Amino acid sequence: MLRLRRKDLNRLEAQALAEYPAECCGILTQGPEEEVAQIHACRNIQDQLHAENPADFARTSRTAYFIDPRELTRIIGAAERAGGRAAGFYHSHIDCPAYFSEEDKRRAMTMMGDEPDYPDAAYLVLSIDQQQVQPHKCFAWDQGGRNFAEVELELLD
Ligand SMILES: [Zn+2]
Repeated sequence: MLRLRRKDLNRLEAQALAEYPAECCGILTQGPEEEVAQIHACRNIQDQLHAENPADFARTSRTAYFIDPRELTRIIGAAERAGGRAAGFYHSHIDCPAYFSEEDKRRAMTMMGDEPDYPDAAYLVLSIDQQQVQPHKCFAWDQGGRNFAEVELELLD
């Protein structure tokens, strides 16, 4: 289960609206003593990758996101050095509902493809349809089922 402050979810939804019609993305970290995750907005570099290498990056930012690996390493590294961890990742869907797509699953998995890079992380999917915020959904790796399953996002004030 993932816990966020309600105001932080509002900030993520504002980011998703501001970056529409591109998918927004970011990282959620949690300190060792913290009850809720902290949000870190990231730049979606998918369009840059698509422009440089359309064969390997066929999608644009409208249907995909890519967090700059250096930004990812910096944010998660800082959390881990402070005794915390990567609590999750978030991104938005454009003009379609929040669900965990095959692309989302493929991107969450290791190169070997048999388990996620971050098996304890939750994946929050936001949805913006026609510039309106739609219901979000949250997913996490189910070790027994060997697949992602929907989990609760708990909101605290
Ligand atoms: Zn997605």
